[in-house]
Amino acid sequence: MQRVAMLAVHSSPLAALGGKEAGGMNVYVRELARELGRRGVAVDIFTRSQRKGEPQIVELGPHARVVTLRTGPAAPYDKNWVLDYLPEFVGRIRCFADGQDLNYDLLHSHYWLSGVAALELRKMWGVPVVHMFHTLGAMKNQVAQTALWGESDERVRIEGRLLREADAIVAATPLDRAQMQFHYNVESERVVVIPCGVDTTTFRPYPQSDARRRLGLTEAEAASKLVLFVGRIEPLKGLDTLLHAMHLLVQRRRADQTPIRLIVVGGDAHAGADQWGGEERRLRAEVERLGLAEVVRFIGSRPQAQLPLLYSAADVVAVPSHYESFGLVALEAQACGVPVVASKVGGLQFTVPDGQSGFLEPWNEPAAFARRIEQLVEHEGLREEMGARAIANAQAYAWPRVADRVLDLYEGVQHRRKPAQVIVPLQIPRCAL
Ligand code: UDP
Repeated sequence: MQRVAMLAVHSSPLAALGGKEAGGMNVYVRELARELGRRGVAVDIFTRSQRKGEPQIVELGPHARVVTLRTGPAAPYDKNWVLDYLPEFVGRIRCFADGQDLNYDLLHSHYWLSGVAALELRKMWGVPVVHMFHTLGAMKNQVAQTALWGESDERVRIEGRLLREADAIVAATPLDRAQMQFHYNVESERVVVIPCGVDTTTFRPYPQSDARRRLGLTEAEAASKLVLFVGRIEPLKGLDTLLHAMHLLVQRRRADQTPIRLIVVGGDAHAGADQWGGEERRLRAEVERLGLAEVVRFIGSRPQAQLPLLYSAADVVAVPSHYESFGLVALEAQACGVPVVASKVGGLQFTVPDGQSGFLEPWNEPAAFARRIEQLVEHEGLREEMGARAIANAQAYAWPRVADRVLDLYEGVQHRRKPAQVIVPLQIPRCAL
């Protein structure tokens, strides 16, 4: 049986989604591992422990498990500190593999931090490294509006190294690949474009009125046109644009029209005001300032199992991000048959065919977002047509199709890498935990 060591050091695929650091990458790693496991490829996802007493091994499904290893303090800490603890992470993975008598055939790392660990393990195991960045530091710096949102030079330097040294890099879109070439000045023949996947059995349409009832929405919400936002609450997600669009929509709405409301999923609605992250606090103040307190409701992060109902309850899903390397939320919404109004940036330009299953608009133009949202909520026929096309579009990203391509890539890199490339063959003593 083929055995893959998947590395996701800084954020566990078991973490609650929609918080500060758990989103699309966590979903991708979890779902890819499950799909590969179903195909008979054994996958261990290695991540660092974030709290004391976490079980070391958690099964995700057949042949797929999460292995949580202590790496620095067993507590949440700034992801930039992870770099300092990577030698420990690498050492513990080695000990785990030796202790369980496991030999991995391939390393698949996610995010720049795990890439560094993968290159180190390759020196000892001599197996190929497939890497996926999920986001690029250089791109984040390009769209960052203040130095505070920027990424370190070290991250950018390490990403360049990974592009030169990994056996293969997975880009989520052709644009992602072009950005790697442009910003890091590397040749791209080892960069393969494979889109992210969506679980089309979980993300499927439910009748809108049923979904609203089952979710227990307020009476006012159930009787409104509903716009939905789903995502981590951070500046890059562009909620400002959407709040200003809602302000315009509310101002324009006539008394004889159905009211319109926005539900925001993500962040932590249940924490006290003193615990809200800075961005969430700022956005809530903005809602008050714009007089939208009755129109916008932050409902906090929700488990993914609840999202198909939330998407189905909505008339439109808005994705106003400043940058998105792929944009899983846009794909999940489409799989549930809901049209998307998204920013014309990054991966969204591939996941949301403009004018087909949604509309793409400049990320910083609330008026354009407002116009498109209005068009969709006022024209039921258009909404239904686009919803149907959205479902068809999402099918192209169903996990079995995406996993086929990942497996082809694995086969290709294993074929290319000769055993002679092991740099330190068996000189390192085996160890056990
Ligand atoms: N998500 C979730 N619950 C939430 C908020 C988000 O399950 O409360 C999931 C969502 O379903 C999606 C992922 O988090 O799969 C976000 O991925 P996306 O690519 O849209 O954004 P990223 O977090 O990668 O920037």
